[in-house]
Amino acid sequence: MIDSRDDERALALSTLQQVFGYQNFRAQQEDVIVSLIGGRDAFILMPTGGGKSICFQIPALIRSGVTIVVSPLIALMKDQVDNLVALGVRAACYNSSLTAGEGRNVLDQLHQGRLDLLYVAPERLMSDDFLNLLRGLTPALFAIDEAHCISQWGHDFRPEYIRLGQLRSLFPAVPIAALTATAEKQTRADIINCLQLKDPYRVVCGFDRPNIHYSLVDKVKPYQQLCEFLLRYSEQSGIIYCLSRKRVEEVADKLSRDGYQAAAYHAGLAPEVRRSVQEDFLRDDVQIIVATVAFGMGIDKPNVRFVVHYDLPKNIEGYYQETGRAGRDGLPAEALLLFGYADIALLRGFVEKNNDPEKLRTELHKLNAMVAFAEAGICRRRVLLGYFGEVIDADCGNCDNCLNPPEQYDATEYARKALSCVYRVGQNFGMGHVVDVLRGAENQRIKTIKHDRLSTYGIGQDVSRDDWNHLLRQLIQLGYLEQDVARYSILKLTEQARPLLRGEERLKLCKPRTRVQRGKKKEHKIKGQNYDPALFEELRRVRKQIADRDGVPPYVVFGDASLA
Ligand code: ADP
Ligand code: MG
Repeated sequence: MIDSRDDERALALSTLQQVFGYQNFRAQQEDVIVSLIGGRDAFILMPTGGGKSICFQIPALIRSGVTIVVSPLIALMKDQVDNLVALGVRAACYNSSLTAGEGRNVLDQLHQGRLDLLYVAPERLMSDDFLNLLRGLTPALFAIDEAHCISQWGHDFRPEYIRLGQLRSLFPAVPIAALTATAEKQTRADIINCLQLKDPYRVVCGFDRPNIHYSLVDKVKPYQQLCEFLLRYSEQSGIIYCLSRKRVEEVADKLSRDGYQAAAYHAGLAPEVRRSVQEDFLRDDVQIIVATVAFGMGIDKPNVRFVVHYDLPKNIEGYYQETGRAGRDGLPAEALLLFGYADIALLRGFVEKNNDPEKLRTELHKLNAMVAFAEAGICRRRVLLGYFGEVIDADCGNCDNCLNPPEQYDATEYARKALSCVYRVGQNFGMGHVVDVLRGAENQRIKTIKHDRLSTYGIGQDVSRDDWNHLLRQLIQLGYLEQDVARYSILKLTEQARPLLRGEERLKLCKPRTRVQRGKKKEHKIKGQNYDPALFEELRRVRKQIADRDGVPPYVVFGDASLA
């Protein structure tokens, strides 16, 4: 008898080739597929665009019975189901977008065993009626897509996902696959616990996206900066993320007025508008989507060439996922972040509205990590991947910091002041208070705790609050300090801090870019709303010229803005 595993491998490969039309599996897909076919749970962590769907779609076609796929967004389901149906797969979705008749039809198909995959919204799946129906069927597999939605620690928590934790006890014999692109440790643990996965086959793929060029500019005149950036992309697709719906509308309007094919997308628009915007984008009928974070989860558009963050994202998970929508075809792509200090204050304001102290703490910590990424003077990829627990051997050589390293200065004395201050306050306070002490602030907290009697009180009056924060964040990144997330992000010294404190080591740090830029008037080629139409026409002409000359729209590595 041949090894059944070999049988399954052969079957999986022929399904990949015949149904999906791909020649080979990507790294790790095959093993997890074979393992799922064999009935073992799976935990699949792959970056956006990594090819997670096939990991459950192929087992769904091979195991008998229907595979139930849980997906958080209706648009996402529709997308995947349309693709599958186009490939001749018996797939359907069951959600609130269906009419009563359509819904009945899907349930009939399900009942008669005429479906291999059924995509369901979590609240539909966990309704008593639906569960009763399923119990008579014994599904082949539960695939929980975007599984990070189950974790309160995750950046996209959805309460409806919590009830999915009952699936294991309701259907003990049915394997469960959890899929996500969110890598951070606590979220992973939450997913495995909540879904009660039993010794899941784990796939953890690298998070590096070497074809994405990460860069950041100080936000001075964002719209003009955006237009300058867009000059390099005459016809190519891109996404611009803004923090608010209002900003989305504004930017989309201005871009349209300035001759771009741009459309707005946010959760305040009618579902049919959103659907058609998304479809236009997928079909390349719209070049640029200006959107809130509502746009993009699971969107499979290979040729997105750039993602711009017009405002600072709330956390690194979101930033990584959003930028990850660029360059899914493996060709060069750019991620540009416009970074302004006002955004930090704004976001902090949002976060502080949180009534749940646990949540407040996590979100603040995440925001700080995001700011630290933005302020980083070292290889961006190192910081980004480091956040997800991945260490890279060498700097990427392709981000703004690698290509154009920020200016450094001898920060030894400042760093020593900061570290001794952390020590003097008993390693028991967060960044805000440490900076207050350094700057000799006269607030109630300082007085109550009598920190104005410390030897470090006021020793850093000559340095601005922003700059102290910047310095402390660098000390954290470089490992001189650590933040205790579980305890209000208080700062603690690490072993590494000793020699520096004792004066046995000198330290160079990066100058903050923003301080350098602040107040400095920049020359801008395009004027915002009152743009000069003649000049703008000229710029459009240049873009077109490059596109015609090269046969493709201009792609210029960031930092080289020459249009010639
Ligand atoms: P994810 O859900 O991980 O973000 P998808 O499952 O949507 O990613 O897959 C991303 C793209 O990669 C899709 O276009 C998919 O068809 C393609 N893909 C997946 N597996 C393979 C493969 N083995 N060979 C070629 N293309 C693949
Ligand atoms: Mg997916």
